Order: sequence, then C-alpha cells, then structure tokens
Amino acid sequence: MQPTRLAQQTAPTVVESGQALANRRIPDGRPTHNDHRKPGDVTESNWAANLDYAATAVHRPVSVEEVQELVAAHPRVRPLGTRHSFTDIADSPGGILISLEDLPADIQVDHDAGTVSVNPGTTYAVLAGRLEEEGLALPNLASLPHISIGGAIATATHGSGDTNGILATSVAAIEVVRGDGSLTRVDRTSTDLPALAVGLGAFGVYTRVELDVEPTYAVAQHIYTNASWESTIEDLDEIMASAYSVSLLGDIGASRMRNLWLKHKIGREPRGFPSTIHGGSRIDDTALPHGHSLTRIGGVPGPWSRRMAHFRPDAPPSAGGDELQTEYFVDRRHGRDAMRVLRSMGDRISPHLRAMEIRSLAADDLWLSPAYRRPSLCLGFTWHKHPEAVEALLPEIEAALDDFEPRPHWGKLFALGDLADRFPRLGDFLGLAAAYDTTRTFWNPFMDRLAGSREVGTR
Ligand SMILES: Cc1cc2nc3c(=O)[nH]c(=O)nc-3n(C[C@H](O)[C@H](O)[C@H](O)COP(=O)(O)OP(=O)(O)OC[C@H]3O[C@@H](n4cnc5c(N)ncnc54)[C@H](O)[C@@H]3O)c2cc1C
Repeated sequence: MQPTRLAQQTAPTVVESGQALANRRIPDGRPTHNDHRKPGDVTESNWAANLDYAATAVHRPVSVEEVQELVAAHPRVRPLGTRHSFTDIADSPGGILISLEDLPADIQVDHDAGTVSVNPGTTYAVLAGRLEEEGLALPNLASLPHISIGGAIATATHGSGDTNGILATSVAAIEVVRGDGSLTRVDRTSTDLPALAVGLGAFGVYTRVELDVEPTYAVAQHIYTNASWESTIEDLDEIMASAYSVSLLGDIGASRMRNLWLKHKIGREPRGFPSTIHGGSRIDDTALPHGHSLTRIGGVPGPWSRRMAHFRPDAPPSAGGDELQTEYFVDRRHGRDAMRVLRSMGDRISPHLRAMEIRSLAADDLWLSPAYRRPSLCLGFTWHKHPEAVEALLPEIEAALDDFEPRPHWGKLFALGDLADRFPRLGDFLGLAAAYDTTRTFWNPFMDRLAGSREVGTR
C-alpha cells in the first residue's frame, strides 16, 4: 500500500467527531438537519447545507497518480463533485472524499472524432465556454452550469426536451481509478459503459470523461407567465414538443403557472412565437427582478452555452441554497395523470413548495437512468427549507404517484425503499459495481440502502 499524499494547499478537514458520526442516520434520501452545528464548528457540508458529510477529510489531488495513491491507501473513499446533491450519495462516513477541483481541466477536443475529453471535476460552465470557442456544443445542460461533469453524470442529471437524453447519454468513454488504485478505461466497445455512465460514484473515481460534441448552435428563450395549468396539462404533448427544451414552473396547486419556459433552437423550429400561450403572456428581461440570476430571455438569440442553462454561472442558482429538492420521473404516457394527482394534493404540497419544474426527456439505455427505456416526464420540486415537513410529505407523494411507478433523481431527496422493480438493471448494476470495486472502497450507506441491506463489507 502506498503512502498517503495530500495536495500541498489542502489540509485534511475533520468534519465531525467519531461519536457524532456513529449517532447520525440518514433515512433513505430524506433531509438531515444541521441543528447540532454550533458557530465555529469546522464542518464540510453540501451546497444546500442540509447535510454535513460524515467523511473525515476532503482531499484535492493535483494529478491522476495522486488520485491513484490516495485510493490505494484508504479503505473508504468517495469521489466528490461540486456538492450540489441533496442526498448523502457523495458521502463516505469515516472515509475520505476526493475532489478533482485542483486537477487541471485539461480539455482536449477531437474535431475528427466529434468528442471532447476532460477532467470530470470541471464544471459545465468551464467546459461550455471552451467548446463554444471551438465552435462546438453539447446537446443540453441542466438548469445550472455550476455542477461538475463527474457529479452530474453520476446522478443522471438532465435538462429538458422531448428529443434530449440525460447529460450522461453524451458519455463516450470514462477513465476510472478503481479500489486498488488501478486505472481502467471503458468506452463504447464495452458493454459496461451504460452502467458506468450513471455510476453513482460506485465504480471509483472518474479521472477522465469523453463526451460527444456537435456543431455549435444558437438558442432564443421565451418565458410566458400566468399560463393556465389545466389547459397546459390538457395540451401537454403539444406544449412539450413546441420547443427544443420546455419547462413548466410554478405552484402546482395554483390555477396558473409562474413560467412556461421555451428554449428554441434557432433554425430548428419554424413556428413563430405567439404573444400568449394558454393565457400566459410573453415577458422579456425587463420583467425580471433587479439582480436576477437567469440567462438572457426575451427571444434574444445567443450561443447554447449562454442559454441552455436557466441560471448564469456568475450568480447563485435557484434559491441560493435556501431550499431542498426532490424529483420523480414517470413514463410520459402517465404524465398528465401524474400532474393531476399532484394538483389534487395542492393543499398539502403548496405550503412547502417554492416551485415545481416539469420537464420532458427522451428514453435511454443507461442502466440506472430514471429515463431507462421510458420517454419521461420529470416532476421536480424545489422546497422551502422545511426538512421535517418535506420528510413527512415524500412518502405521501410517492404513494399518490405509485400507480405511475415513479423513479427518483439520485441527487435529490426521496423516501422510496425497494427500487428493484423501478430500475430493472439494478441487480446487474450492483453486481458490476462489486466486480469493479472488489474491496468495497466506494461503498457507502446510500449504496447500502440501494442494495436493500444495512451491511457494509470490510476491507
Ligand atoms: C440549485 C440546483 C439546481 C439543480 N438543477 C438540476 C437540474 O436542472 N437537473 C438535474 O437533473 N439535477 C439538478 N440538480 C441536481 C444536481 O445536478 C445533482 O445533484 C448533481 O449530481 C450535482 O453534481 P455535483 O458535481 O455537485 O455532484 P456531487 O453532489 O458532489 O456528487 C454527486 C455524485 O457524483 C459522484 N461523483 C462526483 N464526482 C465524481 C467523479 N469524478 N467520479 C465518479 N463519481 C463522481 C459522487 O460520488 C456522488 O455520488 C440541481 C441541484 C441544485 C442544488
């Protein structure tokens, strides 16, 4: 076993005492509370601060070799992205976390192959800027570009669009540091890639990811406010197909939605832009509050890199962290009914809801993608930071949606227990993860719950 070496600029950070670690239990994907934190405590939290990591240190290696040494030297490890997940998926209680933020981005474009290779600790904001300079693009982005590529693909992060897959569908190859410190490359010639692409951090630390790219394109965004939920639901298929990427945002319990957000790919959709849709009026930037964090709207065309995310990279996204999030994916054919069920629960949901965001996705073949073999409607909830209320509500919502077999977003809060019937390749995934990680270095409580067992293997 090789000696541990820390990046010079980073001392290991003790996050909690051993007793605090032993006492802490996070039920499923549900919120934890940081009430035990006192001013002056040294803690490492996720972005929304609803979770203190129970790992003992965050390491920031500056080379792949250093990642290999760290992994080989530690019995418990988990890769860490930009910490935007709300669940404990990125945690490693008693172990270490490895962040690749100090590893050079090393963005290498291969115009002939139509791919880009990058350190997956890099954010989409950085990658998108560089691709734009090269005249290239990704097909889609999430609502925020602040997240790392490795963290986003691991949890099946997605944007919207009937013809768009989750971000991990662009993955062409991965280099992974496995539990023994060895480096393995997996590309499309391997049947393992559809498992590793949405890998939950269970296969090892990805130190290189190759993504498909396409020629750059321009996008114009239109937002309509106060469209009717009922008539939009009635017309759901047409609305979701009316632009390259469509989002419905607002209080599902209200009669009118806050924003109907259309991202048009210039030159793709021939139709014009009506001034009203389902009673909603088109607005431009002047209608947004001063200091807003959104990318340019009002139909002003711009490069994909500055339109496909809702939030600008230079401003805090969403509610700035004063929030919790949950998301379920249902088969598109149940979309309308699922939305109506949620509307009927408005009196329970609305008091805790900042906004819902409803998006669509194409089906894919990635084993743990919530859109696996199902064109999907994504039912996203951004909650007020009401952890107890949200924790109580999630099983209620999941029971109400049960007929539609909802699949949860891995990075957002959920209560669902046995997920084997929801993810048909879950057993294969766990078997392959165990084969890649024979020492169970990357196993954590989130994996434990996924496997339906509280038992954690020893090294
Ligand atoms: C404000 C906000 C808006 C959001 N909007 C969206 C949205 O539009 N669409 C959507 O789908 N989700 C959205 N999310 C959820 C978010 O995209 C996911 O939680 C995503 O995983 C965050 O990426 P991260 O880099 O922060 O990863 P982390 O939370 O740090 O880690 C997530 C997982 O990735 C693994 N991982 C990280 N790096 C690597 C690596 N190098 N190798 C292997 N595994 C790795 C970790 O081990 C962990 O399992 C949003 C979250 C927030 C806070």
